[in-house]
Parts: sequence; structure tokens; C-alpha cells
Amino acid sequence: MSGLNFAQQEAVNYLHGPCLVLAGAGSGKTRVITMKIGRLIQAGLAAKRIAAITFTNKAAAEMRERAKHLIGREAKDVLVCTFHALGVRLMRSDGHVLGLKPQFSILDADDVTGILKDAGGTTDIATARQWQWTISLWKNNGLNAAQALAQAKDENERVAAMVMERYEERLQAYQSVDFDDLIGMPLKLLRDFPEVREKWQKALGHVLVDEYQDTNATQYELLKLLVGERGRFTAVGDDDQSIYGWRGATLDNLRKLPVDYPELKVIKLEQNYRSTSAILRAANNVIQPNPKLFPKTLFSELGEGEPVRVVDCDNEEHEAERAVARIQSIRANGVYKEWKDFAILYRANHQARVLEQALRRAQIPYKVSGGQSFFDRAEIRDLCAWLRLWVNNNDDPAFLRCVTTPKRGIGHQTLGALGTFASQYKLSLFEALFASSLPSVLNARALGSLHEFGRYINDLEYRARHTVGAEDAKRFMLEWLKEIGYEQHLYDAEDNEKVAAARWNNVLEFSEWMAGRCGGQIDDAAGVTTVAETKTLLEVAQTIALLSTISEREKDQNVVTLSTLHASKGLEWPNVVLAGVVEGLLPFKPEELEAGQAPSEGGLQRIQEERRLMYVGITRAQRSLVVSYPKKRKKGREMVHAQPSRFIAEMALDVKTMKEDPREKLRALRAEFAKKSAESAAAAAAAAAGGSAAA
Ligand code: ATP
Ligand code: MG
Repeated sequence: MSGLNFAQQEAVNYLHGPCLVLAGAGSGKTRVITMKIGRLIQAGLAAKRIAAITFTNKAAAEMRERAKHLIGREAKDVLVCTFHALGVRLMRSDGHVLGLKPQFSILDADDVTGILKDAGGTTDIATARQWQWTISLWKNNGLNAAQALAQAKDENERVAAMVMERYEERLQAYQSVDFDDLIGMPLKLLRDFPEVREKWQKALGHVLVDEYQDTNATQYELLKLLVGERGRFTAVGDDDQSIYGWRGATLDNLRKLPVDYPELKVIKLEQNYRSTSAILRAANNVIQPNPKLFPKTLFSELGEGEPVRVVDCDNEEHEAERAVARIQSIRANGVYKEWKDFAILYRANHQARVLEQALRRAQIPYKVSGGQSFFDRAEIRDLCAWLRLWVNNNDDPAFLRCVTTPKRGIGHQTLGALGTFASQYKLSLFEALFASSLPSVLNARALGSLHEFGRYINDLEYRARHTVGAEDAKRFMLEWLKEIGYEQHLYDAEDNEKVAAARWNNVLEFSEWMAGRCGGQIDDAAGVTTVAETKTLLEVAQTIALLSTISEREKDQNVVTLSTLHASKGLEWPNVVLAGVVEGLLPFKPEELEAGQAPSEGGLQRIQEERRLMYVGITRAQRSLVVSYPKKRKKGREMVHAQPSRFIAEMALDVKTMKEDPREKLRALRAEFAKKSAESAAAAAAAAAGGSAAA
């Protein structure tokens, strides 16, 4: 219980009924969850009967780590995961009652776009994405295609509902599910199958949920069914940090809790342990205009600290340079020497580019989180799908992706028939290809193309197995890309030639990186050549396919974080720069509000969500916070004047505006450093000269 204040202890010790911890940012909610896992085990609940649900996989990994620290080995039996991962577990175990094979495939967003293009008979990505968005919201609200059609408000929605019907048919044929199904299907399982529900209610003794304010309606229902009437759960959240309304999250889930569980124990935490008073005051000021679900006040005992600084910049490049200079000068001052002590946060993904460029120029290591990492790019995921298929022919999602990327004249009807056949005989798609009774369900031409594809995969696997060393690996990769016509595919799929060329470049970069891992001679950055152990290309493909390359790369890296505000939730850094805080970006495109008419309710709610986003951003900072904005910014091809965000005024009631340019300070520090080292060199030389003179 050490390291917990009184209210936190109360929450941790309350074991027998439903418990809600409602508190502002940095007040130790996540810490309560971690400690409560330990407390439950201590009280005799088996670790495997505890589930802790987090918002991201990364948060889950972090919590697992902390729990291990706290409780030791037993922690590994606690189920710490996201709602989606919990859904997968439920479906693998009991999905068969819905007609789902245990080895069903999970489609990623690109797979879904592809299937929707097909199902809706369009080649236009934007249209398909629009459907994807609409269908996802419907699914999150528990609507099926027929219900969506019945409530469609206009022609667009009617079309989307009809596409949804064909889409769902296709998923079933492919034995595949999308992300929303990972919540919707478990919900159906628990709701419609009492024996499944009882089994899970018995299995789980306590469920803990972090970031509760960002759960959606289906997640609420799922949780309710999981914990049963006794409601053994602990939810922690902050209504002021609800920032996923646009994805269907709803604060109704907070309002409903005391109604659905009258014996709910509500605990408030008021001390913030993260930020200085100056930072906390700015945060409180910003969030103040929003309506309050529950009144709460936050205080900090970490002292006033440095004032929050507002920095105006000429344009976005200038802003990026100043952010970088700020990091360098804090580092030069010596208290924060690690790169991981710094984060630059922004509203929209595209803002990362200028910042990345400035960091690269300054040779500062960084990672981009929340945005697209190299390994998340569609073209790299395409290649990884092929690697997965060489390594494991039975990987159905990889199979589906490869057989259609690039297109090889095998249509969805053929694939649908293959999928149905495979699930009927409990085979993977690849195994089904060569089954003796397949010819009875397909025509000769379709069968021929499928067989050809299957033989090609076997052939690739064989060749990859016999390719050793960097040189050969690179030659093989290029040959293979040519055989499947991947470069052409990129140019066909993309109207903008420049984009296609950039994608092809990524592919080449990836091939090079992969070939490098096959070993042989390696030149490191310093130009030193070493002879490394050689591996076959298949072995390398295996490690790439198995390891989640992204988490491997990001693990414990001492780097500056670039992150969207959304992805920064729950995290903290000693020094934070909020960049690009201008009207139009934060709040995001509020134009409709500025046209002079009274804000619609939707508009007002949106501004409130944007304000919460600003609040989340400010409260990530522990010791220093800079809020910067460019006076001009690029909008499309044009340079336009930018207005500082209204949130700066709201925050800045007592915040000093910083006039000095941190670059000046940095130059001064560098000059001083140079002067000092010159002086000491001179002193050393003088001492040496004096010494020899004396001799
Ligand atoms: P957020 O709303 O941003 O998710 P949170 O409420 O989950 O924040 P935590 O991340 O759990 O807050 O805690 C914020 C910081 O305060 C962490 O560094 C944590 O270790 C520290 N902390 C929490 N409780 C205490 C405590 N009782 N004593 C000292 N430090 C604490
Ligand atoms: Mg938290």
C-alpha cells in the first residue's frame, strides 16, 4: 500500500462490489489498477481470474510489466489486454457456436477497404473509406445490415447499408472478422448463449478497466455481461479526457454506471502527482468552460514550477526548429539528458513531417507514435503478408492479401467458394487449394489460376530457403517483386505518380533492410566492415513474420516521442511541446462555427471534445510545457495566415508569453561551452609549456 494516498488505498481495498474511480489527469488512476491487481491476488483471487483492460496494446504491455514488478511471476497469468484482444480470446474459445473456425482471420483496415471496394463495385478508395467509416459506426452501435437499412436517413446511407450486407456475406465466406466484430461477436456470444455467458462469468473474478471514459456502447454491454449482476469490476476514468467520441465512445457509459449498479462505490482522487502547479493551472483553465459531469478539483504538491510558455513562430518550419532548439537547450542545461524525457505533440498526423525533418537535421533520434510508422505502410504490410505466407502457408489473412495483391485474376467469387469449401472441411485456404474434391465446386479456369498461385508460393518458399547472404537475398527480392509485378501494381493503384514512386522507394528500402539481415558483410555507420553470420532469406522472413517488428523497434528506446494528442493519452514526459496550436487544427476545422450562425449542438459538442484534447495534451507534461503556433501555415498548396487557438487564450490567463528565442539561448550556451573548452585547452597548454620551461 506504500505509494498510495488515502483515496487510492480505498479504491484498491474495495474488493467486493462495483467500483468507479473518477478523477482528473495524473491523479494515479492507472496506478490504482496496477496495485489492485496485486491486492486481489493477495486476497486470494487466482491471477488467471483477473482481467485488466487497457486502451492500447502498448498500455497493456506497460501494465503487464509494472504488475510483474509488483507481484512477481504470478502476474503473467493475469489477463492484461485491450477490449479487442479480450474479444479474440472469447471468439477463439467459443466462436464455434456462431459458426466461426477457431483459426478465423482478423482483417486489418486495408483488407477491409479492399473487400468494400469489391463488395460495392467501386475502385474509388475515398468512397470505400466512407463506407468503412459508416459501417464501423453502425457496428459499434450494435446495428446489423438490415437494421442499418431500416434506419438509413438518406441515399448514401441506404447504399452503405446495402454494401454492408454484401460485405458481411464476404467476411463469412472468408472466415474473417473485422476489428468491430472483435467486440460485436463476443457480445452476441455472451448475450445469446447462456452457457457461454455463465462460463465466462465464472472464469472471471474481477475485471478492471482503464480509460473507461473512452469505451463505446458495445463495450459497455460486453463488460456488463462479463461481470454479471454482482458487478465485480473496477473502472477508472476521467470524463474530461474523453476524446474518442468521433469513434463512438460515449460518456453515457459513465452516466449509466450508477443507474445499472446502484451499489456502485464512486471514489474521487484529487491530488495530481504528475505536473507542476503552473501546468495544472493551465489545464484546469482550459477545461473549465466544459460542462461537468462530476465536479472535481485537482491540486499538485510539486510546486509552482516553470511558467507555461506560449511561443509564436513565423511558419511551421520555424516552429519545428524552435521545438528542436528547445529540446537541445534543456538538454544542454543538464537536468534532462535523456531523449526520452521529451515529447512533441500535435493534433493531426500530417504535422509530424516538418517536425521529423527538423529532428533529422539535428540528428536527434525520435519515434513517431500514433501516426504511421514505416512498418504500417500499406506497401510494407503487403510485403510482410507475402513473407508470412512463405513461412506459414496456412496463414489465411496473408493468403487473401497476397492472392489479390497484386491482382492476378482471381475474383471474390472464386475466393468465396474456396473459403466456404475450406471452412466446410476445416482446412486452411492453402490446404484447400490442393484438396481432391475442390474441382467439384470451381470451374477449370478458376481452379487453374488457384493451382498456379499455390505452386508459386511453394516455389518461393523453396527459393527463399536456399537464398543465403545479403547479396543473393537482395537479388532474389528484386526478382520476386518483378515476377509479381509489384512496381506496376503501385502505379496502377495510385493516381498520383509521385506517391507511387515514394511507395516503390519504401519497398526498395525494405528489401535492402531485409537482405541486410541475411548477413554476410555489413558496413556500419562508421564504415567498419564486419563479417556477420549468414542466414537464409526464409529464416529472416520467419523472424520478421513472427516478431512484431514495430514493438521490437520501439522497445525501451531512448528517443524523442512525436505523437498525436490522441495517442498520447495516459502517458507522461518531463518536457512537452504542443505544436501547431492554431484555429483550424486545434480545434480542428471549426469553420462552421465561425460563419456567424449559432453553433449546432453537434458543433458545440465537437468543440468540447477538442477542448478535452487540449486538456489531455497539457496534462502530459510533468515539468515544462511549451505551447507553440505558427503565424502562417500551409493549407494545401497555399500559405495562409493562422490564428492562435482559442484554447491558448483560455489557458493563458496567467501564463507569461515567452519572447526570447530558444535558439539564441542555445547559441549562447554553445558559445560559452566553446569558450570554456578553449580556455581549459589554453590552460593545459600553458601548464605543459610552463612544465617544460621549468624542466
Ligand atoms: P491519466 O489520466 O493521464 O491516465 P492517471 O490518473 O492514470 O493519469 P497515473 O499515470 O497512474 O495517473 O499517475 C501519474 C503519475 O503519478 C505517475 O508517474 C505515477 O507513478 C504517479 N503517482 C500516482 N500515484 C502516486 C502516489 N500516491 N504517490 C506518488 N506518485 C504517484
Ligand atoms: Mg492513466
